[in-house]
Amino acid sequence: MKTPTRRDAIATGMAAGLLPPLLLPKTVAAAPATAALPADVDVAIVGAGMAGLAAAMMLTERGRSVAVLEARDRIGGRVWTDTARLGVPVDLGAAALKSSDVNPLVAELRRREVRMQPDDGDFWLFDRDSRGGSRDAEPLDYDALGAAYDRIDDALADAKVLRADVALASRVKLDGDVPASGNTAGSIAGRWSELARAMAGPLHLGVEFNQVAALDAPRLSGTGNEIWLPGGLGGWLAGYAQGLPVYLSRPVSRIDWSGRGVTLATAEGQVRAEACIVTQPPALLAASGTKDGILFQPGLPDVQREALGRLGSGLLDRIALLYEPGSFEAPVNTQALSRGGSDGKGGGILAFRLNVQAQPVAIALAGGDYARDLEARGEAAAIAAARAQLKAMLGDEVDRRFVRGIASAWGRDPWSRGAICVARPGFSAARRIAGRALSGPAGRVRVLFCGEAFAPQDWIGSVAGAWLSGRQAAAEALRMLG
Ligand SMILES: Cc1cc2nc3c(=O)[nH]c(=O)nc-3n(C[C@H](O)[C@H](O)[C@H](O)COP(=O)(O)OP(=O)(O)OC[C@H]3O[C@@H](n4cnc5c(N)ncnc54)[C@H](O)[C@@H]3O)c2cc1C
Repeated sequence: MKTPTRRDAIATGMAAGLLPPLLLPKTVAAAPATAALPADVDVAIVGAGMAGLAAAMMLTERGRSVAVLEARDRIGGRVWTDTARLGVPVDLGAAALKSSDVNPLVAELRRREVRMQPDDGDFWLFDRDSRGGSRDAEPLDYDALGAAYDRIDDALADAKVLRADVALASRVKLDGDVPASGNTAGSIAGRWSELARAMAGPLHLGVEFNQVAALDAPRLSGTGNEIWLPGGLGGWLAGYAQGLPVYLSRPVSRIDWSGRGVTLATAEGQVRAEACIVTQPPALLAASGTKDGILFQPGLPDVQREALGRLGSGLLDRIALLYEPGSFEAPVNTQALSRGGSDGKGGGILAFRLNVQAQPVAIALAGGDYARDLEARGEAAAIAAARAQLKAMLGDEVDRRFVRGIASAWGRDPWSRGAICVARPGFSAARRIAGRALSGPAGRVRVLFCGEAFAPQDWIGSVAGAWLSGRQAAAEALRMLG
């Protein structure tokens, strides 16, 4: 086992997490699929992800009647802790809460005295050698990667000040850019620029670097440690949802807001409400009116449909690998990254977390085109690719102790169709228009949209953003109800 250089961690997009088996999440107390829907509630909510549950929590705390209709047979949406397949809890969607010292959800968890674990694992960097093998990076390499990463983040900050709605790539020139193949020609900075781009594009937002919209993308740098939750984020959310009126396996197929209230139809009955809150990801909302989407009656205004079409979906996937106990001599949650990725040509870069939450588990994050490619090749291929990359970094001895793996496929999931919402360069205003509430006669708000995509700018694409956005929609519904 190699002795890596201890360096300050660079946050690689969305972090991965696992928790001790003793802290397995509780079963969710949602209504079984056979439970009858209530005929009438104050507010009906589409989706039991973070946004829908946050809205339901706020409304019920204020004494309002609510029904949360969820298409899947589980709560959580893109927060999903799998406890069964590896025998330990694995977050296959969101895992960590970033920028803990300013994160509003972390503040809420503190208020509720939820046990949290700050993340301060190591950061290990590997370089490709001329034969396609792997070696520990030198201190200068860490510095070069950090400098390239900072320059991208500075360009993001500048674009926001200047309101430059352009591709981020057009605002960043990194020193001596050269292909990230096994060859070590070119400057040190040039050799690491490709990895910095991957960390700011596919591994941050799930899109290639040249598709990142400078005005729309959240900053790379965070403040404070990331926060992880015992039992995984999904485990915590299950506890949070206890007692909320969630109806599972109830895809909403139609929302009629033509009359005095709103009527939501499912295959097993309908609910009438004064208002409804829709938390569907924009990728699904964009299909409204087709056989794959909710039928709104009346339909969404043209300008809103057009704006939804301007939004895209970034793809992130996690691949979790279980090894025999004691396989990783690494501090808990250590990050491991290699230049060059699996094919040695700069493609296929995975960001690893090792010894996740003190379990013999490695979790790889894949993003963008590579994640799409892995999904197309199937779960076994994704596991094999992640295992091969880890073997290249940590050696045969660790690889021999591999037990089994699992992988997510958020792009193929019919209820998410991707990981997080992104605006295309030049169309950052689309979010605001796409998320406009629908009002009935006398301007009375009937349908509110919320979720990570419609969160305040600093929090888009995150669980905290979904939480904030759900609460904002609930506050709006409360104002309407009077
Ligand atoms: C691999 C991955 C890693 C991530 N890592 C992080 C991270 O570490 N930290 C972080 O903060 N964020 C992370 N995120 C992002 C985070 O998961 C999301 O921002 C957040 O969970 C979105 O919550 P939401 O409530 O807006 O949407 P969702 O969770 O998607 O909830 C929407 C709900 O609506 C339901 N639904 C859809 N259509 C219908 C219908 N017709 N009828 C009824 N129900 C319907 C869906 O099933 C779903 O449950 C990650 C995402 C992915 C995929």
